Amino acid sequence: VLEQGLAVADATGGGLWLVDPDTARVTLLRCAGCTPDAEERLRRVPLTGEAPAARCLRDLRPVWLERGDALEGMKKPAPSSACLPLVADGRALGALVFAFSVPHGFDEDERAFLQLVAHHAAQALSRARLLEREQRARAALREAHQTLEAIIQASPAAIMLLDPDGTVRLWNPAAERMLGWTAEEVTGKVLPAVPPEHWDAFRHSLERATRGTVLDGAHLAGRRRDGSAVQLAVWTGRVHPANGPPQCLSMMVDITERQRGEAAQRFLAEAGGVLAGSLEEEETLERVAHLAVPAYAETCGVFLEDESGGVRCVATAGGGEPGEVPPPGLAVVMRVIQSGRPETRSGLSDGDPTSARAGGTFAYLCVPLQVRGHTLGALTFVTSKRAYDAQDLALAQELARRAALALDNASLYRDARQAIRLREEFLSIASHELKTPISALVLQVQSLMAGLARSGAQFDPERLRRGLERVDRQVKRQTLLVNDLLDVSRLSAGKLELVLVPLELGALVREVAERFEPEFARSGTPLELSLAPEVRGQWDRLRLDQVLTNLMSNALKYGRGNPVRVELDVVEGRARLRVKDGGIGIAREHLPRLFHRFERAVSERNYGGFGLGLWIARQIVEAMGGYIEVDSVLGEGSTFRVELPHG
Ligand code: ADP
Repeated sequence: VLEQGLAVADATGGGLWLVDPDTARVTLLRCAGCTPDAEERLRRVPLTGEAPAARCLRDLRPVWLERGDALEGMKKPAPSSACLPLVADGRALGALVFAFSVPHGFDEDERAFLQLVAHHAAQALSRARLLEREQRARAALREAHQTLEAIIQASPAAIMLLDPDGTVRLWNPAAERMLGWTAEEVTGKVLPAVPPEHWDAFRHSLERATRGTVLDGAHLAGRRRDGSAVQLAVWTGRVHPANGPPQCLSMMVDITERQRGEAAQRFLAEAGGVLAGSLEEEETLERVAHLAVPAYAETCGVFLEDESGGVRCVATAGGGEPGEVPPPGLAVVMRVIQSGRPETRSGLSDGDPTSARAGGTFAYLCVPLQVRGHTLGALTFVTSKRAYDAQDLALAQELARRAALALDNASLYRDARQAIRLREEFLSIASHELKTPISALVLQVQSLMAGLARSGAQFDPERLRRGLERVDRQVKRQTLLVNDLLDVSRLSAGKLELVLVPLELGALVREVAERFEPEFARSGTPLELSLAPEVRGQWDRLRLDQVLTNLMSNALKYGRGNPVRVELDVVEGRARLRVKDGGIGIAREHLPRLFHRFERAVSERNYGGFGLGLWIARQIVEAMGGYIEVDSVLGEGSTFRVELPHG
């Protein structure tokens, strides 16, 4: 139509100006009668002021120029021209200018005709404008729609449009990823992600949203298509389509992992507090076992390696018979302790996930308890309710790390207390042991001196000899005790120096036995020797004497007067010395610690002794490349065995 308008303008040698109805700016489209120069000039200079076209546009009335001069810039002289406004709906869309080369007036018919032309041109232009605007609006709408669609498609949050009764009308790809159903599967159906127990509450929230309340920050425990649980943060608001009832726009974000992470952090923080609550080993073990039940496991077991390398279940939580080893069993636990690496069965195998204890299917985690580069044992977690994943494993390992630290602290604390107890006991014994002989010694010497003062030269030499013998025994005993004490500090500082000389062990044993003879005789303890000949080696004479002295004095002290037998032979190239007694024996639980410093298996009240002799003996024997061991049955007697490299 615009083309038609231009054609009219061209045909009449006139021009066509258009008015932008929005900005009211007037632009020249074409002026057929103009020279190109003039047209260009007119194009840039808007019609203003008293120009005929401007006037007709301003007044919305035709301007007839019947006797004027030729318009400036026209190709031909155009003394007659007409400017007609193109008016539609009372607004000027443009103006048509007809220029005539011959001066003449416009009669009624001509005016009516030109006005009719202008009227039709205005109608056509208006329609064209309307059409154009409609097309533009449609294009803009299309574009807006596409943008919106792209946003919905790309959104990481699930976006859904729901009817107030929960029927799904829109379902974006994020919703599909989050919940598992495709748009085709859910559109037109009631939202399946809401479990029945939450359905009423959810419907209620949709109704509230429909009434205009924006529901922000709601949490929904939903379920996915595969049945797994999903935690959702939900925003719901009302949208009101132009033609249709109001709908609910729901946006959902999956916060399952975030919530798990937060719960795990809370759990670990709580566990830290619980573990720090006690330094008692047994209580700590119980606490460790109970930490993860029931939040993360149905059953939890704590396993520790004992000193002999065996593995024991020391605490359990979550039922089961006392003493019963919880699943997955000792074999798995031992593998984990040996390798230091966790083992897991993450999934529940097919079939009914009945209770693990009833032998049904279950998932488990077994993680090592490690501290200071050492594996103390392992923790097991078992459940028949769900599968374990990497996050569960990481949590179990972190819990095990903290538990191991707590157990280590508890055992260090126990050792420290034990050491302090031993030291205190040692101090009380040491002061007693050192003081008693000195008192006796002082009495002995005073009585001898008093006797001498009284009797002078007549003092009975036999009494003097016996008195001096007693003094000598006390002094020797005292010297031994003091030497032991000196040895302790020397050995603790690692300053044991050996003087190795060629030695025949049988001769040394005989020598020590001879020294002990009077004491054995006094207590009525028979002493038997069975010594292989020529057992030779490079050994420290004084130190071996000390070891033998210690073993024989122990046999005498704890032997209850039963025969003591010392045997010497050579076994597999090693000199073997055994000191056997039939005395009080040693309880099993004391055996492992007997060779430790200050350790004693008897009460200080019944037997004196520092608890140092065996420790010193072990240091000496080991320094010479040998070892010392004991076999003992409580109440029946003990056999101490020393083996030394021979030759
Ligand atoms: P002590 O000076 O206390 O005898 P030892 O180190 O020689 O120290 O011995 C440590 C502990 O070992 C003793 O306190 C005692 O309980 C036990 N013991 C050592 N020898 C024997 C033995 N022949 N029979 C029974 N118990 C023994």
